Amino acid sequence: MLKNLLCVVLAIVLLSSTLVGAQSVMSADVVVVGGGGSGLVAALSAAEAGAKVVVLEKMAYLGGATMMSGGVMPAAGTRYQEELGIEDSVEAFARDIFRPGHYSQRRDLVYTVANNAKDVLEWLEGLGVKWTLVTGHLRIGQTTFRNHEAEGKGQGIINVLVENVKKNENITVLLDTPGVGLITDTDGVVRGVAARTKDGEDLTIIADSTILCTSGFAANAEMVAKYIPSIIGAYPMFAPGATGDGIIWGVKLGAAVANMGAYQAYAPFSRELKQNLDLYALYRGGILVNKNGDRFTNEYLGYSELGTHIVNQPDHIAYMIIDAENAKNTPALAGWEAAGIVKKADTPEELAEQLGIPPAKLRAVFDDYVEGIKQGEDRFNRTKLPKEWKPPFYAVEATGDLRHTQGGLVTDTDARVLKTDGEIIPGLYAAGGVTEGFTSAGGPAYMSGTGLLQAFVFGRIAGQSAALRK
Ligand SMILES: Cc1cc2nc3c(=O)[nH]c(=O)nc-3n(C[C@H](O)[C@H](O)[C@H](O)COP(=O)(O)OP(=O)(O)OC[C@H]3O[C@@H](n4cnc5c(N)ncnc54)[C@H](O)[C@@H]3O)c2cc1C
Repeated sequence: MLKNLLCVVLAIVLLSSTLVGAQSVMSADVVVVGGGGSGLVAALSAAEAGAKVVVLEKMAYLGGATMMSGGVMPAAGTRYQEELGIEDSVEAFARDIFRPGHYSQRRDLVYTVANNAKDVLEWLEGLGVKWTLVTGHLRIGQTTFRNHEAEGKGQGIINVLVENVKKNENITVLLDTPGVGLITDTDGVVRGVAARTKDGEDLTIIADSTILCTSGFAANAEMVAKYIPSIIGAYPMFAPGATGDGIIWGVKLGAAVANMGAYQAYAPFSRELKQNLDLYALYRGGILVNKNGDRFTNEYLGYSELGTHIVNQPDHIAYMIIDAENAKNTPALAGWEAAGIVKKADTPEELAEQLGIPPAKLRAVFDDYVEGIKQGEDRFNRTKLPKEWKPPFYAVEATGDLRHTQGGLVTDTDARVLKTDGEIIPGLYAAGGVTEGFTSAGGPAYMSGTGLLQAFVFGRIAGQSAALRK
């Protein structure tokens, strides 16, 4: 029946009709589902290789999570590093990605991004993205400065991509047009996408190649509960379109999935201000105490890992407490005070009273921390400790958020989607958060910048592969 449908559809296309009753049909060399970072990069790359491209975006705007991101992408051997005399290598870059995932990730994927990041960063620069190398503080887990931040952050990158897409006559963008499923022929070859127009009409896009760039499943509560229950209760900082569509369709066709437990969280995050708190206030010696008055982790951890720790405390929150010296070096504190979210006291007992936690417990936590400072290592093996812990003390409520997931469809290094038996699904490609990625399970394994790295490097590869029908 599907074959019949396909024949009808193809016939309609060949007869050059574009509208048949309520059933519209379009044709393209490449159809890209999802108009975020990976989708726009894939579309531009496919068009650059000579393909006619249609991009479907279910929201009324382009950008997805990429637009919400910090616009930070790591790359090794860039001229920005060279200008500052920073030595780096693909080996060191790959190792920094492998280490938090305990070397469980696929080597071919990690080396593909490590090898290609510099070229993709320069290609984006050629389109108009302006990069600055982030220096000052090394991100936890990164052994050198290799994070490059785009002017205007994620929104800045999307502005540049959208500008280039608009200028490109080979790319047609359809907003408010969700893809609803894949079209295959009886041989299992993907022939395009079924979609729905903003008027609720059916739309069929017949294409030689289909690229899934629909991102992950952070906005799909059922999938979150199934695959990443350790982050349930996190503040929702993910893109609304990340409902797992591409993963679900791929699996229906027999695609393999992997790393479904991988995600990026962030802490400390303020529910009241709906924005990040200063992570470095923790690194400068701040501590986290939960509502019961218990300290529960070494606070000198990556932001994603801290997110998981806080979300698993009562009511998914903790109090971030800093002392007088730390306060002097925390410029954001004045803004938090102005917003009325800071409690301040000269003793742990007074602070505890204001926070509604048992005073004796907070006193014990403070005494224990001071003992750890004296010894150079505390009971959570924290050795990054302040010189002293002196009043006045300041406390701010913090939670962890969920930003995106990183598990999904298994692909090869040409971005072709693979079945559970390792065979490719002909005609189907995928890039970005919809794919398995390379950060391994859980939030703690997330390495800063790998979300955009996954989207941009594999978006570029997917666009090229799809145009050439590799
Ligand atoms: C607040 C925040 C900060 C972040 N900061 C960073 C950072 O600094 N560095 C970093 O590396 N990563 C960061 N990330 C992660 C990064 O943004 C993502 O990993 C990356 O943007 C994923 O790109 P993508 O193209 O796969 O998804 P997206 O950019 O989300 O694009 C997917 C698009 O597909 C659309 N879509 C979904 N389903 C359909 C459908 N059925 N039909 C049509 N369209 C569909 C969505 O609406 C969306 O527009 C951050 C994420 C967030 C939320």
